This record gives sequence, C-alpha cells and structure tokens, in this order.
Amino acid sequence: MKDKLYEEIKQLEREMIEIRRYLHQYPELSFQEEKTPAYIAEFHRQLGHEVRTGVGGAGVVATLHGAKPGKTVAVRADFDALPVQEENDIPYKSKVPGVMHACGHDGHTAIVLGLSKALNRLQSEIAGTIVFIHQHAEEIVPGGARAMIQDGCLKGVDAIYGAHLWAPFPLGEIRIKSDSMLAASDKFEIELTGKGGHAGLPHETNDVIVAAAQLVVNLQSIVSRRINPFEPVALSIGSLHAGQSFNVIPESAKLLGTVRSFNESVRQSVETEMKNIVDSAGRAAGISARLNYEYGYPAVINHPDETKLVIDAARDAPGVTDIVSIQPMMISEDFAYYLNNVRGAFFFIGAKDPNVTEPHPHHHAKFMIDERALQVGASVLGSVVLHSLHNID
Ligand code: MN
Repeated sequence: MKDKLYEEIKQLEREMIEIRRYLHQYPELSFQEEKTPAYIAEFHRQLGHEVRTGVGGAGVVATLHGAKPGKTVAVRADFDALPVQEENDIPYKSKVPGVMHACGHDGHTAIVLGLSKALNRLQSEIAGTIVFIHQHAEEIVPGGARAMIQDGCLKGVDAIYGAHLWAPFPLGEIRIKSDSMLAASDKFEIELTGKGGHAGLPHETNDVIVAAAQLVVNLQSIVSRRINPFEPVALSIGSLHAGQSFNVIPESAKLLGTVRSFNESVRQSVETEMKNIVDSAGRAAGISARLNYEYGYPAVINHPDETKLVIDAARDAPGVTDIVSIQPMMISEDFAYYLNNVRGAFFFIGAKDPNVTEPHPHHHAKFMIDERALQVGASVLGSVVLHSLHNID
C-alpha cells in the first residue's frame, strides 16, 4: 500500500503547493486564527472526514476511519503565523500587513491536508484510524497543544507524529533524534528597586546598577557551578535596562532572559538557584529584588521505538536522500505536550533550496522554503502512519 500512497501524494504535489501558497497569503496570528481553521475544517468535510472544530480554542481535529479496524495514529500540524512584515518578492506574498508565515506552518498544514486526501483515497485498504490534529497557536506560550489535549484531541490515540519543515537543513534530509531533541524554554524577568540619587553621592543611594551588573555575572555561575556538566542548560540575559542619565543613579532596573534545558529536575534547580542568587543580591545591596520565572514549553523528548519507526519509514520515501541523527537543539516546540501524553516522535524535514547558500532563518522577513519539501514531508509522514498502523505490505 505504501507505493500507492507515494503515488497519490505525488499526484497531489501541485495541490499541496497551492494550499501552502493560499495560506501564505492569509496568515493569522496565534490565538487570533479564524479563517485558517475554517479552511482546514472545510477541506476535511469535503473528504467526508469526521470533523471537530473549536478544539481547545481554534484547533481542528479530523478523523479518517479506515475500512478495517486497527490502531489509532495521530499526525499534527500547526497553523499559526508570526508578527513579521514579509519582504519576499513573490506572487503569493502575505496580504496581511505585519503578519507572515515565517516559520513554515503554512507548509505543515499543506503537508497534512495533502496527506489526508491521499490516505482518504486508500480508505478501503486501511486498517485503523487516522486523526489529523491541526493546532492553533504554537508560537506563543501557553500554546494550543495543551488546551487541545485537555479538550480530548488525544482520546483513543495510540501514537502521535509531527514534523517541522526546516529551511537551514538540505532538501531531502530527515533529521531526528531519540530522547531529548528540543529544549524546554522558560522566560524570566528580574526587577530591582533601590534608592536613586546623585551619582556623586553614591553612599546616599542603594544602587541597582551595580546590583544588576553583579547579577548578570553571578547568574552565570548556575550553569558552570551548580548544574551537572553533563546536563545541557543555557541561561541567557537578553535585555538589561536601567537609568537615563550619566550622573543619576536610577531607582530601578530590569533584566529579561531565558533558560533552556532538557531535564525537568535540572529545570527546577535552575529556578531555585536563580531565586537564591536574586534574593541575596537584593539583601546585599539593600534593594528589593524580585524574580518572576515563567515556565514555557517542556522539552521535546522523542520515544525511542517511535523514533526508530520514523527512521525505518523514511528510508524508502520518495525524495529522501539522507536520514540524519542530530544533536539536541535549544529551540522549543509545544509538540512536547503530546509526547508527555502518548508515545510518538517529532522530526525535521529539510527544506533548503539547493541553489541558496545562506538561507534566511526561521522568523525572518525573507524566510522561504523549497516547496519540493512538501511532497517529501507528506511521503515520510504518510509512510510513518502506515508503519504505525502496521499497514505496510
Ligand atoms: Mn515553528
């Protein structure tokens, strides 16, 4: 059946490209999606799939029942866009000012819709059930995944698979890793409030600038001294603001930063250590120091058997040139929540145009994918579905 599926997907390549280009012109921001989920729901309805809309917010869940009984496998695609003004000069450029599909989620949706149509044509031969999870709001915490799960999108699902088009990876490559693949991503804010005053009379102030500078340095000791060197962690401060003038000691300072980690207990240790350092910095300087630590998405931890299944399934998919085992990456994805609930795996689909030497990164105003990656992605994901349902002969 796999060869038939590959053939159907090949015939649907043009349609997938058209879907992607249509969605590209009408991007919608996270938690504001209306037209996109309506379009997706209509597509599935036309195919006769069972459709549930408004799942956990704007999510859409469509179900295809195979002719014969079997397991239930889910595939997930996210569909939100970003607050970016597109700078690509293309006929299907975003028609929404300041909003752009700059992460490839238009492509993810096209892949899963194309795949759903291809699988639909093979319905009479399929043993099992396929659930298509179209998720809103991946880009902004708390994300759509958790709410969709709470609203039952994984009910009865035995395994889930998802993928991300990745422009920096070459077209034809599938990249995956068992166990820790993508990091947990947290955000923090430190607010310092002291006693401002004349810069020539520092002894009459409680200086937040000196305290902030010490904090920037002291926080680095968490990763280097408090965490096991075999545990990957990044703690970075991305913003530090205080003061207006050269001769005035300001009253307040603010630091913003992020913590990336893979291990849940390490993640909690970092928060505790940060709190200790911030508290003692406040006491030492005689100022108020407050840490606000916000948990973002947890780490994407691929299940080993399902990772192996993806590798096996990808091997004969048309267009796949290489399957690469990667190092963990310090980016995050709310696909993590699905993997905390059911078995499954997440992987990257290389989408770099071979003629481009330095592709623009994701979230860039000139972000672009090689559209041939849609057929590759749908073929691999389709093969994964059939393997997962044991429908591979
Ligand atoms: Mn993304």
